[in-house]
Amino acid sequence: AAPALRLDAITKTFGSAIALDRVSFAIAPGEVVALLGPSGAGKSTIFRCISRLAEVDAGTVTVLGRDIGALDRRALREHRGAIGLIFQQFNLISRMNAIDNTLAGRLGQVPTWRAVTRCFSREDRQIALAALDRVGLLEKAYQRADSLSGGQQQRVAIARVLAQRSRLVLADEPVASLDPASAANVLTVLKDIARERSIAVLCALHQTDLACRYADRIVAMRKGRLVLDAPAAAVSAAE
Ligand code: ADP
Ligand code: ADP
Repeated sequence: AAPALRLDAITKTFGSAIALDRVSFAIAPGEVVALLGPSGAGKSTIFRCISRLAEVDAGTVTVLGRDIGALDRRALREHRGAIGLIFQQFNLISRMNAIDNTLAGRLGQVPTWRAVTRCFSREDRQIALAALDRVGLLEKAYQRADSLSGGQQQRVAIARVLAQRSRLVLADEPVASLDPASAANVLTVLKDIARERSIAVLCALHQTDLACRYADRIVAMRKGRLVLDAPAAAVSAAE
């Protein structure tokens, strides 16, 4: 299959600082790639370049066959809306229940209160309930996001991605705030849905052992350079 995401020699500088130096890698549909690297390595900048919240100085970012550098304003809005985003701090609307937070995925991007108070169809609600069921949270559908545990909130974020029908998910340290059992649970669900729906996942992690256990491939960065791109099975957790 053609890659869902391809970075070709992307370079990004901030003044004289080189945040990304000719970084290249690709992610196939259904593949989970862990992005490792110490603080300042360039991980957030990669995410920003993929969403085109930052413009690359050189190189190309191709998402689902399209060079995103060439998108006009409207196409760029659609591009951003199609990417599923999962953050360290959950980014749910705390006063809203799980189903409404999930439905926000039907609107694309991160929900705003105004966006989700629009009307949703019965079909939308069924899609959201199916997504919550898939992540094991059907019985929590009508509970407020802030009444859920961290692991449950992160699974609502995964349900939101399912409802959004994203084919590319960017997860930025999604388990950094969770206890080990919840982290394992969230990464298992993420990996399973990637397989089931052929979703490509780029997941920043800071624990190599989790990357080895849950990712298909590991990409490691250091000072803006790619220093490793290998199957997770070939990487020892000791590295
Ligand atoms: P990571 O997410 O791996 O911690 P970042 O992508 O945030 O790394 O940062 C990579 C490098 O780019 C760092 O040296 C950082 O200081 C620099 N950088 C990132 N964003 C900016 C910015 N908006 N202005 C100036 N320098 C930046
Ligand atoms: P977390 O650890 O994510 O904070 P809990 O462990 O409290 O959440 O899980 C809440 C309920 O959901 C439990 O009954 C648990 O068995 C169930 N559950 C957890 N993960 C899943 C899943 N992936 N699929 C189905 N049910 C799940």
